[in-house]
Amino acid sequence: MGSRGSSSGRGVGKHGAGMEGKETGATVKSSHYMTDEIGEGGGSFVNEVMTTRDNLEQIYGDSVRDLNLQAATFSDGSVLGAYGGNTLFMAERYIKNTELTNVMKQAAKDGYHPSIGNFSGAEAVTAHEIGHRLGEVAAQRAGISEKDIVSRAASTLGIKTENMGGHISGYARTNYGETIAEACADVYCNGSGAARASRAIMNEVKKALS
Ligand SMILES: [Zn+2]
Repeated sequence: MGSRGSSSGRGVGKHGAGMEGKETGATVKSSHYMTDEIGEGGGSFVNEVMTTRDNLEQIYGDSVRDLNLQAATFSDGSVLGAYGGNTLFMAERYIKNTELTNVMKQAAKDGYHPSIGNFSGAEAVTAHEIGHRLGEVAAQRAGISEKDIVSRAASTLGIKTENMGGHISGYARTNYGETIAEACADVYCNGSGAARASRAIMNEVKKALS
């Protein structure tokens, strides 16, 4: 996930772990277990990430249980988080401060990411990245593509598939993986106040996972 920061405003694809994101520069330069941060002042951030993972497991099932959590330095400093190879990477630079919440609130104001409601930046970014995992596993289990998941949701709303992202956020328009990830963060942070498109997508994700 990217921020509309001073640098480029571009987002992050779902590839991490040294892979180059197709549409972005989400290359992980270095990373280590996020739990290492607990004794070094990053405890509340790490707790928020883990609680979000646990809450999403309650809602969507066990596909996020064994997620590997890493604190990472990205080549592109505007990258907030990434997902790839069953690993969730969170930008290390935000772990010991509250900046990420401010960044996400500003991004929501700009329409680039959904509102984070009463949640923190760590929680919203975690929900987004785990949304990548959910979309990936849901598509695999149902033998369909992530686009198909968005399409199924679109048909329940009478919205064109290609317009679904635009009903969620600017970044959700990037590709169908990002559409699902943004829908996941939107529904997690805003519940019944999330965009109709987000709620419909996460209903389809749930169905495909079951
Ligand atoms: Zn993403």
